Amino acid sequence: MKEYVIALIDCDSFFVSCERAINNHLNHQPICVVTGENGCVVSRSKEAKIMGVKMGMPLFMAKKIFPAVVYKNAQHEIYKSFSNKVMHNLQQILPNLEIVSIDEAYADMTSLDKVYKMPYPLLAKWIRKKIWQNTSIPISIGLAPSKLLAKLASDKAKSTEGVFQIKISEIQQILKSTDITEISGIGRSYTKKMTYNGIFTAWDFVCQPDQIIKKQMGIMGLDLKYELLGYYMRHLETHQTIPQSIQDTSVLPCFTSDINVLKSQLYYHLHQACRRMRKNGCLCTIAGIMLRTKDFTIFSDKLKLPCVSDCELEIAQSLIPLLNKIYQPNILYRSSGVILSELVSKQNYQQDLFNQSKIKNSSLSQAWDLLEDKFGKNILKKGWI
Ligand SMILES: [Mg+2]
Repeated sequence: MKEYVIALIDCDSFFVSCERAINNHLNHQPICVVTGENGCVVSRSKEAKIMGVKMGMPLFMAKKIFPAVVYKNAQHEIYKSFSNKVMHNLQQILPNLEIVSIDEAYADMTSLDKVYKMPYPLLAKWIRKKIWQNTSIPISIGLAPSKLLAKLASDKAKSTEGVFQIKISEIQQILKSTDITEISGIGRSYTKKMTYNGIFTAWDFVCQPDQIIKKQMGIMGLDLKYELLGYYMRHLETHQTIPQSIQDTSVLPCFTSDINVLKSQLYYHLHQACRRMRKNGCLCTIAGIMLRTKDFTIFSDKLKLPCVSDCELEIAQSLIPLLNKIYQPNILYRSSGVILSELVSKQNYQQDLFNQSKIKNSSLSQAWDLLEDKFGKNILKKGWI
């Protein structure tokens, strides 16, 4: 059997780490990032975890019990740009990378020990150092023959030196010391059922006959069993998949009925959503807007575009009349957003080679993206008419 080396690269306390990367004074302080309209803890530093702050804890409660902790409001745009930077740096080193979330990616590192002339754990340590130097974001790396074991290894890496490898010869011993609740993918109801049947460790789970696992959990259960035994069942998806829809929404700076404020927000959201669409190499068929009132009622509408597009200048021509249609001057609004859906891959789409204004608009958007990549957001603003 070919021994694969799969890595799970996970940014440590990602939102907190981004806050620290911006503001060094926060290093070594207990800090939490909160988000949502009522404010819940979504990221905790090691110090805050030790003090006992729980994930999802409401801000008012956390503040009362842990007044010494620094609480920061989430800045998602900033976290997104840190994530892009980390993933871009990883892609330079690891050609087969599957980005799974804002702070996690799998990589197939098989044979890279020969390319970089380093044993895998040393290579992982070198990558960690490189990412830290280039982005100021700490990462943990779990190495194993399968994705599921790599995930387990990355959890263990958090409490070791940031790198942890599970070799084929060590699987049995590791599984024996791993509680069934530590395995991601086994839901709570299965865990309950298993412990009832005397299955407490991951090793107990894999020792069950295939038919029993299949009967209880279906084919996914078998997949889980063999991943745990070190078989590379879940292959990396390194090609970019097209998202189902892209939306960009935010709370307005203050409650407003001003149509000009709503228009300028719409242009802003449209640009952000189109930028993401271009990064994903897709075009949208349907564009829609959403307005949420002061008392949380939502008004929304969407339309089919005259032609598929990834260009804010074109899509705005359809969305502004839509905004005028759902806007009511006597209502106070609290948030707004843009939703682009029925996305298609740009690669598979026949470009209109003779439409000069389309070509002009498209090159303008690309130049806009390049400038923002280089000099940051808000370097350019359209003087909308
Ligand atoms: Mg993480």
